[in-house]
Amino acid sequence: MTPLERALRERIAAEGPITVETYMDACNAYYYATRDPLGARGDFITAPEISQMFGEMIGAALADCWKRAGAPEDAVYVELGPGRGTLAADALRVLRTAGFGGEVHLVETSPVLREQQVRSVPDAVWHDSVDDLPGRPLLLVANEFLDALPIRQHVAGIERRVTVAAGGLAFDRDGEIVETSPAREAVVRSIATCLAAKGGVALVIDYGHERFASGDTLQAVRGHRFAPVLADPGEQDLTSHVDFEAVAEAANFVGATTTAVVPQGEWLIRLGIEARAQALSRAHADRADDVGNALERLTGRDQMGELFKVIAIHSPDWPAPAGFE
Ligand code: SAH
Repeated sequence: MTPLERALRERIAAEGPITVETYMDACNAYYYATRDPLGARGDFITAPEISQMFGEMIGAALADCWKRAGAPEDAVYVELGPGRGTLAADALRVLRTAGFGGEVHLVETSPVLREQQVRSVPDAVWHDSVDDLPGRPLLLVANEFLDALPIRQHVAGIERRVTVAAGGLAFDRDGEIVETSPAREAVVRSIATCLAAKGGVALVIDYGHERFASGDTLQAVRGHRFAPVLADPGEQDLTSHVDFEAVAEAANFVGATTTAVVPQGEWLIRLGIEARAQALSRAHADRADDVGNALERLTGRDQMGELFKVIAIHSPDWPAPAGFE
């Protein structure tokens, strides 16, 4: 039994069944605090770890938007849940070349991942919560961040809970599931409020759906394979599909503007990733196959190109970033 499972069982024995939201929150807090989950020997791989091209396209999109907004000098680069800091390093290389001289602010709760981020982005400032970010124009990125925040599940209007049955953790009810995520909406409201008041743009990239739909999307991944979500609490990554309709509504509610929701593959192609792949292949002929494979993984319809989606949230006073129409 994992240490977290022991603690959760004691809690359930004392207080009764816990909500799916409490369960997911406890599992991921423990999971991320105790390891670096990324990479071939870890549990999963994200787009920036596949290729530098991903972060470079994001840097180029942010740089272009910032310049068209008049290149405000007080703008800051912000990333939520930056993992190893790879995306930040790749995006900032492009942003710095474009003349962006602003500060770097990272929102990260895991001490293990903060240590990695210090190596990739040594001059950054770290925060525990989006509510602590400076009130400045933001150039913000959140890649595979919202999917890790806890969700609530309801069955026929009743909140679904985790209990102990037949000696193991079990759900207290099954049926048609409706998911919501107040935690995600709170994060989106917080950044959108800042964008609306101070200017800036946020790129939110995650796997999920453009319109709300019912269904159980909670999943666990360990060692690059799916696993039962109640197995080994705290030792596997728990995520769920992001409802981009709810993201847009939360942002619009506090006065920010949102773009259409675009599949990641289409978006990267519109931003010019194919030309970047050609240039990299020409410059490093020995790595041309790797570059081609990475391009396919990031944009292919049966890979990350279609399931992953992108939305931009921006100040009404800023132009929409490129790639959304
Ligand atoms: N964006 C990175 C990593 C994605 S994994 C990439 O694309 O590679 C999720 C990241 O979010 C990790 O850095 C994790 O530690 C962080 N994280 C998860 N829950 C968080 C929370 N509640 N507050 C801040 N960071 C969190």
